[in-house]
Amino acid sequence: MHWNHYRYHTNSMAGETAARAENKAMSLQARCDLLEDRIDTLGLVCQAMWELLSESQPDLEQALSQRVEEIDLRDGKRDGKLSRVQRECPRCDRPLHQRHRSCMYCGEITDQENLFQE
Ligand SMILES: [Zn+2]
Repeated sequence: MHWNHYRYHTNSMAGETAARAENKAMSLQARCDLLEDRIDTLGLVCQAMWELLSESQPDLEQALSQRVEEIDLRDGKRDGKLSRVQRECPRCDRPLHQRHRSCMYCGEITDQENLFQE
């Protein structure tokens, strides 16, 4: 009787652990899917910008390299990453979360700063 109860208990705990792991995997997969969508959008916008600019600027490649380096260094670090500037809510002046379209304090709907922001 004791043994069966122990086995039931450990099986049930293993089941809960497996369910938690499965939920976490599904949530990570959903996040990966969102990131892939975002990368596709960024790639599309980059391609369009490249084509538009290269039509009117012959030395685009070099100018682009210089600008990438300049933007990379704006936060003082050469890390190949774009530093994000903290924005504030236009209504309540509190910090806006980068991934939310509305202020989490007052609900103000915020606009995209540019095409690259989701
Ligand atoms: Zn607000």
